[in-house]
Amino acid sequence: MWKYDPKSTNADEFINHEEILETLAYADAHKNDRPLLKEILEKAKARKGLSHRDASVLLASEDEEINEEIFRLAKQIKQDFYGNRIVLFAPLYLSNYCVNGCTYCPYHAVNRHMPRKKLTQEEVRREVIALQDMGHKRLAIESGEDPVNNPIEYILECVNTIYGIHHKNGAIRRVNVNIAATTVENYHKLKEAGIGTYILFQETYHKESYLQLHPTGPKHDYNYHTEAMDRAMQGGIDDVGCGVLFGLDKYRYEFAGLLMHAEHLEAVFGVGPHTISVPRLRDADDIDSSAFKNGIDDDTFAKIVACIRIAVPYTGMIVSTRENQKTREKVLGLGISQISGGSRTSVGGYVEPEPEDMKSEQFDVMDNRTLDEVICWLMKLGYVPSFCTACYREGRTGDRFMSLCKSGQIQNCCHPNALMTLKEYLVDYAGKETKEVGDALIQAELKNIPKEQVRKIVIENLSKIETGQRDFRF
Ligand code: SAM
Repeated sequence: MWKYDPKSTNADEFINHEEILETLAYADAHKNDRPLLKEILEKAKARKGLSHRDASVLLASEDEEINEEIFRLAKQIKQDFYGNRIVLFAPLYLSNYCVNGCTYCPYHAVNRHMPRKKLTQEEVRREVIALQDMGHKRLAIESGEDPVNNPIEYILECVNTIYGIHHKNGAIRRVNVNIAATTVENYHKLKEAGIGTYILFQETYHKESYLQLHPTGPKHDYNYHTEAMDRAMQGGIDDVGCGVLFGLDKYRYEFAGLLMHAEHLEAVFGVGPHTISVPRLRDADDIDSSAFKNGIDDDTFAKIVACIRIAVPYTGMIVSTRENQKTREKVLGLGISQISGGSRTSVGGYVEPEPEDMKSEQFDVMDNRTLDEVICWLMKLGYVPSFCTACYREGRTGDRFMSLCKSGQIQNCCHPNALMTLKEYLVDYAGKETKEVGDALIQAELKNIPKEQVRKIVIENLSKIETGQRDFRF
């Protein structure tokens, strides 16, 4: 007899295989059931989210009219909760030493020809200065899993080094961490080191596939991996970032699993994931993505993004440079709130390009534009690029952030900060065209700050930034 229990601490019970199969069967049975689809959309309009079952029915919908309404609602929710702001970040690869055997990742242990690299603290410094000189304020550090080469002490040392670097007006104000599942004690240490979000992709929620895709190494343990977010929360990290690697298993299975994971975290800890990432499998070194049979097309990808936006309106959504400009443009309006820009997925790729025979990239980047080009592009599309990290630094994480978000107040609080951090970027790092586009955008956006008093403070701060008299931090 199977058991599904969102409050259980056992991965097999909170991500229950049979419950997912029943959900998918239910979604299939109702994919053309217009009255039910409409009823679910009505529920979604309350902006309180949807259960994995209801959201799975929307994802399965074959009704054109309903599908159009799904996209419309996703856009509206995105606008209501996040406005036109897009937060920017960059990944920083620390080490590609890895003891796991993930069949889709070129860092797998049996890849003998890929050079293994691990940044020294001096190299971390140089990479971070290069990132600061681009204008980045928020990083996601990435590393393979190797207890000997990349122990937790190494990761902590890197976090400490990164926060300590202040080059010109540069500073990394939030370091998010994407490292393998670890112990409560180690999560506690990461929290103490001042990390932002702990990110861990589930890769796939399908246990049988998971075991095959991760044949060797500590990552083979599905339950240990799936229960990692619980341990992170027990260790005091209240911002966690979930995600699956689309292409490994059937997307509808993954979608239901992802939402069940969010429901579980909410049920046990009172706070769902801070972000959800939507990576798609890409070619990489010895990895041929076409050998994986569950790849999804761009339309399906867009529908997944829209359905996630509707199902968990208060959870940020991230798209990386695994997607090209065109796809990124499409999903920005459907619910994405954070993107990476100017990214390198190699260990040490920011200071100078790697020689051909020394490549350590984790996957092929599909959007190769510079950060400045990305910023300019976003603004021309009507978005306000934001480098703000104020919530995190003022302790508005976890449930405090969620309640801000759920009450719809996030816009009033975030819009002024976005404009001021954009101004910092324009003054310190932008090219000529970006500065012109940006200054005009800020002027126009000032009108959208409802409170006169707040607007006055913002205008004062903008002029301080322009004249080099900053006495505040975001
Ligand atoms: N080692 C950590 C772990 O096991 O979770 C950190 C992960 S890795 C640096 C970041 C993510 O890249 C992985 O979780 C995986 O989803 C993704 N990834 C791996 N191979 C990929 C590929 N070929 N294409 C796209 N993404 C890939």
